[in-house]
Amino acid sequence: MISVEEALEKVLSYVEVLEPERKPILDCQGQVLAEDVYSTIDIPPLDNSAMDGFALRAEDTRGANKSSPTYLRVVGEIAAGSMPTKEIRPGTAIRIMTGAPLPEGADAVVQFEDTDEVSRKSSREDLSRIGILCQAKKRLNVRSRGEDIARGNLILEKGTMLRPQEIGVLASLGRPTALVIRRPIVAILATGDELIGVDQPLAPGQIHDSNTYTVAAEVSRYGGIAKILGIGRDSVQSLNEKIGEGLDADMLITSGGVSRGDYDIVKDVLAEQGEIGFWTVCMKPGKPLAFGVIKKVVGRKKRKIPHLGLPGNPVSSMITFEQFARPAILKMMGKKVLAKPIIRAIIEGDITNTDGRRVFARVTVTRRGSQYYASLTGPQGSGILTSMARANGLAVITESSKGVKAGDMVEVQMLDWVEEQGAAKTVPVVSIAGKSESGKTMLMEQLIAEFKKRGYKVAAVKHSHGGMEIDHPGKDSWKFAQAGSDAVCVSSPDKVAYIKKSDHDLSIEEVLPILGPEFDLILAEGFSKSKIPKIEVHRKELGDDLLCPPGELSAIVTDGSLDALIPDGCKLPTFRWGDTVAIADFMEKSFALNR
Ligand code: AMP
Ligand code: MG
Repeated sequence: MISVEEALEKVLSYVEVLEPERKPILDCQGQVLAEDVYSTIDIPPLDNSAMDGFALRAEDTRGANKSSPTYLRVVGEIAAGSMPTKEIRPGTAIRIMTGAPLPEGADAVVQFEDTDEVSRKSSREDLSRIGILCQAKKRLNVRSRGEDIARGNLILEKGTMLRPQEIGVLASLGRPTALVIRRPIVAILATGDELIGVDQPLAPGQIHDSNTYTVAAEVSRYGGIAKILGIGRDSVQSLNEKIGEGLDADMLITSGGVSRGDYDIVKDVLAEQGEIGFWTVCMKPGKPLAFGVIKKVVGRKKRKIPHLGLPGNPVSSMITFEQFARPAILKMMGKKVLAKPIIRAIIEGDITNTDGRRVFARVTVTRRGSQYYASLTGPQGSGILTSMARANGLAVITESSKGVKAGDMVEVQMLDWVEEQGAAKTVPVVSIAGKSESGKTMLMEQLIAEFKKRGYKVAAVKHSHGGMEIDHPGKDSWKFAQAGSDAVCVSSPDKVAYIKKSDHDLSIEEVLPILGPEFDLILAEGFSKSKIPKIEVHRKELGDDLLCPPGELSAIVTDGSLDALIPDGCKLPTFRWGDTVAIADFMEKSFALNR
């Protein structure tokens, strides 16, 4: 059995980024740009007004306010799309609409609301004069030429995925087409004597072919073009014929015929036409998976078409598509982020893992407060397609885990989130570990002050072995907790506190979601058994040994000599006590800190 990672690596090693094509920008959504796009124009092309109002000289409005307006002579009007014909001289203004070019001499626009235009109109006063009710700063309500896009600049880089906003940018540059990596054509073949088309009535023993539809819909969801080959029968001849029709595609996906019973037919067919590897992948569902290449001769060229043989069971075929076919399609499209975003959620039911495979359980993820919860979507049989239909995520139970119990943290692959979301900022977390009395708190204080000085937003987490006294008896928050509330949140104008009952000692992973993603760095005191990066504080008076195995540490801070501490060959960055600047420099670099 091979691991999910090995299988994915193998699949990806057989697919290449496809060649570029030029096409109308509206057809490029989700495709990757294959050219650098420079601007040949300024956007906006001229200084123009950001408001409907009066263009004027800021200088002329000095001292103006509601009770003593400045009066200017109105010498004209400019609509968007026309060019000014007059210029502004001292003491004059021009009525101007949003987007209209600023007239010569003007350096600010005062919006209608800050003039007496409305009252003038209602009292039928002379409109050749206007009262300005505020003092304008230079450039008020003026959009500068080239402030969005300056001529000659690189605006969209090769490799950018085109979303509606990039398509809009291309349009604003006056480009009707773009050069993008073309969409892969994926041929799809269902196999099985029991299958009939969706438009056919069911005879005894038959089922509708649903895999063609889920797979084709997935292919187009991820940007590919589905080429449906139909249903192949469980015979060498039928499969040969069908596969022959799909050889102009960039990839072939079959479903069914890979479990024991049918194994031989697909194997024989593919062995005849190409190279085939049958694998059992260490996952559940989706253990049997075929992968190989089909050889094809085009003129004098030999081509190899990657073939992915998904299991027939509808859930297994979808989950193996997700793990292997989806990343392959994205790679062919030139995308860089191939993994689905993963979140951490509290599981609301038990999942057992009986045979040491990686389990992908179908779950519905909901967010309550700042915490995600995942609940199983009912019976998890690999033929129960509605378990997928109800799911928005796959909870992943690792091979080494015997399972999880309700209330445990699990990782969930979010099926409907776009891959790029997974590339979003993750907040670095570093533990300051050490024996008791080693000075962890002092180092925490020094580092917090140092990082604040450098402009970071820092959160600190303290692990307290004993209880903690923050919920003072007699306070309202204490009364609510006494009455049985599971959590109490006290919010005031300058701080917020969240006190939640807990029936176990929370891991750092369980604490982090409470803090949220707004910080640049989270410093945790303690949590020495966790898997987060750790820096150990060592004090020679507490002995020559370390609390954590050196292999688990990112660095050591000590007031003693370290030769005795670190095994030969283990190079561990070491800092002297008090050298906070050097420690912070090291952390900035090794944990890729970003303000
Ligand atoms: P197989 O991998 O061919 O042994 O198929 C495993 C199970 O999946 C069998 O119960 C098949 O009937 C079912 N199955 C195979 N292909 C499809 C399909 N295209 N649509 C729906 N179910 C299928
Ligand atoms: Mg079959």
